Amino acid sequence: MKKPIDQFNASRRTLIKRGVTAAAVGAVAATGLLKPSLVRAQGTKSSKATMMYQSTPHGKDECANCIHFAAGKTAAADGTCNVVEGSIAPHAWCVAYAPKG
Ligand code: SF4
Repeated sequence: MKKPIDQFNASRRTLIKRGVTAAAVGAVAATGLLKPSLVRAQGTKSSKATMMYQSTPHGKDECANCIHFAAGKTAAADGTCNVVEGSIAPHAWCVAYAPKG
């Protein structure tokens, strides 16, 4: 039979492990790496709605300086993205944004 202090320590360890796991997942998601990896696993691009695509920048973050963006014929022309399906505007943004460099 476990002593009350042993049960307390086991619960505390469980909470710490879960907290570390949640923090790690959150950190990966924040880098924009989580969803593209899921996309690659599925072998298809995600819809704009799924990736919360918006036609305007998110602060200084925009498709033109995202590693997933393939530019169009000119700097102002729409291009494509290896994560999100369809035509992608250079000044748009989505949750999979990952800065170049
Ligand atoms: S911000 Fe989103 S839609 Fe734009 S290039 Fe990056 S991954 Fe694609």
